[in-house]
Amino acid sequence: MTSSSATSSRATTAHRRRQVVIIGSGFGGLFAAQRLKKADVDVTLIAKTTHHLFQPMLYQVATGIIAEGEIAPATRVILRKQKNARVLLGEVFDIDMENQTVRSQLLERVTETPYDDLIIAAGADQSYFGNDHFAEYAPGMKTIDNALELRGRILGAFEQAELSSDPAEQEKLLTFVVVGAGATGVELAGQIAEMSDKTLRGAFRNIDPTTAKVILLDASPAVLPPYGEKLGTKAKKRLEGLGVDVQLGAMVTDLDFDGVTVKDKDGTLRRIESQCKVWSAGVQASSLGKVLADQSDVELDRAGRVKVLPDLSVPGHPNVFVVGDMMAVDGVPGVAQGAIQGGRYAADAILAEMKRGQQPDQRKPFSYFDKGSMATVSRFSAVMQVPIPGTKRKFETEGYLAWLGWLALHLVYMVGFRNRLNTFINWFFAFSTRGRTQLAITEQQVYARSALTELSYLERLRLAEADKSDRDDRDAVPEESSAGEPSAG
Ligand SMILES: Cc1cc2nc3c(=O)[nH]c(=O)nc-3n(C[C@H](O)[C@H](O)[C@H](O)COP(=O)(O)OP(=O)(O)OC[C@H]3O[C@@H](n4cnc5c(N)ncnc54)[C@H](O)[C@@H]3O)c2cc1C
Repeated sequence: MTSSSATSSRATTAHRRRQVVIIGSGFGGLFAAQRLKKADVDVTLIAKTTHHLFQPMLYQVATGIIAEGEIAPATRVILRKQKNARVLLGEVFDIDMENQTVRSQLLERVTETPYDDLIIAAGADQSYFGNDHFAEYAPGMKTIDNALELRGRILGAFEQAELSSDPAEQEKLLTFVVVGAGATGVELAGQIAEMSDKTLRGAFRNIDPTTAKVILLDASPAVLPPYGEKLGTKAKKRLEGLGVDVQLGAMVTDLDFDGVTVKDKDGTLRRIESQCKVWSAGVQASSLGKVLADQSDVELDRAGRVKVLPDLSVPGHPNVFVVGDMMAVDGVPGVAQGAIQGGRYAADAILAEMKRGQQPDQRKPFSYFDKGSMATVSRFSAVMQVPIPGTKRKFETEGYLAWLGWLALHLVYMVGFRNRLNTFINWFFAFSTRGRTQLAITEQQVYARSALTELSYLERLRLAEADKSDRDDRDAVPEESSAGEPSAG
């Protein structure tokens, strides 16, 4: 794991208070840390990114509506006034539940952090259903890096098409394929269509960006399946009105640099030539779940989520909680509210034990309060579903009203007043003029993934060469011993 130059340090604390370690600065981790603001504990939040990320608006970064900083405030600045909390940057790679320590790594530095209570909120990554090589050609939408890379790929495709004089090549460059018709896929497809049709209209001389094709593919027969048939059908119609080609019952079987191979319901295989592809088809929980499963009786579900006990703890370890997208709890979807409520519940369980001596077996099971869900389809159009209290029914609406609800709710949940204000101004500009302020792309955004792959390839090569030369040195028979003489020393 670490090279010979790696350093290892045990995170120290001035005096011994109860140590609460939180993994992850997303919705689960951050809200758990904030819940412990007044508690007589030391909170250590370890995350592999320096920021808290408002994932629901990543697609707006990818399509140039807002800047990445607006949805990714620095975690240590958010927690600056919370004196019992500190933030450590690093990727957790080991959790030792017997010795109650967590090990994280930043570059070559390994840090060991002891805990009394552990809240794990490491979220989920994109799942390519066993075809991880698809990631190179179709990035997902989970991180700021993903969003910026996608922005680079989308706008880069238009730039390349402008330079081409080959109609077939131009068509390939101006065909955008979004895989997965869940909320993220729908939002992205809608925004790429609006950007090419409105924002970029008239901005090129050799191509007409309004002729760009946006194809939304999904193996299932519906758009936005969790929203039910009525809202799904309305969202599909709205997308088609924007010119998006929605192809359902279409399973992606292969992906490469130049396009996608699709298998239709009747078994027919066909090919779509497209340079810019986006993957939003599935999720796989953090691999830290496996680290827990290897040390306890806890099971993982098919998406790698941890099947926690009703109090969100790991069997046999009442002080280890798993929350958010990493937990598998019936009836709790992988949404921000599930993570926020889970994070707060775990913090409350720790507080209850400290304040009232509440024992783990006295904890009330975690209960999820469904506040409803919504997804935007395009400018002025969204779908919304809110449970009706006291019934099992849901209030459903779509269109302008739902869109206004979406805007208001997302502004409320964004962290930081300035971020809210900036976003509001950008939205006003984008929705009233159809202009976008964030259309810059850099070489790094477009080539970062290839550069990193290249780097890791070179690093592997360097290590292999170092290893080979070590072996050669060991195997080399000194001249004097070849003559049967014992070598000196
Ligand atoms: C594109 C997109 C759109 C979405 N839209 C909506 C929406 O409209 N409404 C909604 O309610 N939900 C939406 N969601 C889902 C919602 O964002 C998640 O359910 C929520 O973020 C889960 O919170 P979490 O804390 O479990 O994980 P995350 O928010 O993913 O946070 C995980 C944290 O753990 C850190 N981490 C991961 N692994 C490690 C490690 N090994 N070591 C250290 N740190 C680690 C990460 O850096 C991150 O800080 C969307 C998600 C995406 C990706």
